[in-house]
Amino acid sequence: MYIVQIASECAPVIKAGGLGDVVYGLSRELEIRGNCVEIILPKYDCMRYDHVWGLHEAFLNLWVPWYGAAIHCSVYCGWVHGRLCYFIEPHSEDNFFNRGCYYGCDDDNIRFAFFSKAALEFLLQSNKRPDIIHCHDWQTGLVPVMLSEIYKYHGMEHQRVCYTIHNFKHQGIGGIQTLLATGLNQAAYYFQYDKLRDNFNPFALNYMKGGIVYSNAVTTVSPNHALEASTTDVGCGLGHTLYSQRDKFQGILNGIDYDFWNPEIDRHIPDNYSHDDFAQKIYNKKALRERLMLHQTDKPIVAYIGRLDNQKGVHLVHHAIYHTLNKGAQFVLLGSATEPGINAHFRHEKQFLNDNPDVHLELGFNEELSHLIYAGADMIIVPSNYEPCGLTQMIGLKYGTVPIVRGVGGLVNTVFDRDYDQNLPPEKRNGYVFYDTDNYALESAMNRAIDLWYQSPAEFRKLAIQGMKYDYSWNTPGAEYLDIYDWIKHKW
Ligand code: ADP
Repeated sequence: MYIVQIASECAPVIKAGGLGDVVYGLSRELEIRGNCVEIILPKYDCMRYDHVWGLHEAFLNLWVPWYGAAIHCSVYCGWVHGRLCYFIEPHSEDNFFNRGCYYGCDDDNIRFAFFSKAALEFLLQSNKRPDIIHCHDWQTGLVPVMLSEIYKYHGMEHQRVCYTIHNFKHQGIGGIQTLLATGLNQAAYYFQYDKLRDNFNPFALNYMKGGIVYSNAVTTVSPNHALEASTTDVGCGLGHTLYSQRDKFQGILNGIDYDFWNPEIDRHIPDNYSHDDFAQKIYNKKALRERLMLHQTDKPIVAYIGRLDNQKGVHLVHHAIYHTLNKGAQFVLLGSATEPGINAHFRHEKQFLNDNPDVHLELGFNEELSHLIYAGADMIIVPSNYEPCGLTQMIGLKYGTVPIVRGVGGLVNTVFDRDYDQNLPPEKRNGYVFYDTDNYALESAMNRAIDLWYQSPAEFRKLAIQGMKYDYSWNTPGAEYLDIYDWIKHKW
């Protein structure tokens, strides 16, 4: 099958979170299974150019219709660790992708409406006719809309779209300008409830809703989150839309790329290890302490890696730091905050804890350091308020770092409580789960983990090794996505 992914991220060249990992990992798996995959991305000024090989201009004169005129673009082509990627660079005063950031600009909705339009124009003008277009999140929600309303009539009537939602919180809200810019026009038509009109704001167009309504198949990133999104407020207002489109909506658990996240071959850690020589993990713990200037002592290390925002349960992350210290353990945090208030809060904490040899807070995004933390820590906490899938717990499992998670979203599908899970035999359990959002709930799960580490080290090691044996690779989800592609290719 010929598959084109259209996305705003692809790790490691463009990565703000899990979306980047998924676009890369899924594409690789699909290729391993004999499919042809290409990835279309914006050419951001701040992406990691050191991860692109053979970058060259592949399509010189792409003119993208925009507000009744057109913007001239160049399309570059290069390989990102073996994946063929096209990067679209517009030449206009808007400077859509030369902002020194991926997201967070006032005109994000227009920037990504342009990207969606440019990606389709590129397919059209370069005569690429994939069997499947797979697009992701609100940034590309307009792709199926424009495909169906415009490009279908220009020779792209056979392309089918799979749309994956990684986070319902950000839906992409536009207005009449979006319609005028992209050439969709016809406000009265698109502002209908069964088209793009936001479910709660009658004056707004919702890109993600458009993606759901117009795609041939819609997925989110875990079965449990699919259920939550359709039936609770986790769908952020799109529950009814998902219900009305339920025949084509399902949850598919993300995988992780074991070529990249694998302690046996990881190039970012000093000592490789597997579940057969788990004892080697200790050398990574030593290296982690050395790197972060932590006290070399006989204590467990609890880690947090992730964005610092309300989704991730920052109040519990904050509490976990002090509870860990009270329990006689060490804490390492690697996190970046986009909200100024949260950022200032953690900067203050960092200053306050600066001289404590049992804690290190690293504020910012650091891919290389994250590998060393996964390998060196004993436990990883994921106390999210909601979590569509969550990758950090799955990576932690692969590195023998026991996850302590809140029982929501994909965390429910991947972590099984050592003491209380009734559905699995003890030898299949792999971590700790708590449910409430208060400090006591977190503490009770952390206490059970830290106490086991101190009181029954052999049992703790056993639990970590059980986790390492889980297969959360792309193998199963890759096959499931191919089934969906096959279904939509033949059904319509
Ligand atoms: P998100 O909601 O951000 O997509 P996920 O758990 O799905 O959360 O994916 C997070 C991914 O981003 C993981 O690969 C994790 O290691 C990485 N990550 C998150 N924050 C950082 C950071 N500050 N530095 C390095 N990697 C990070």
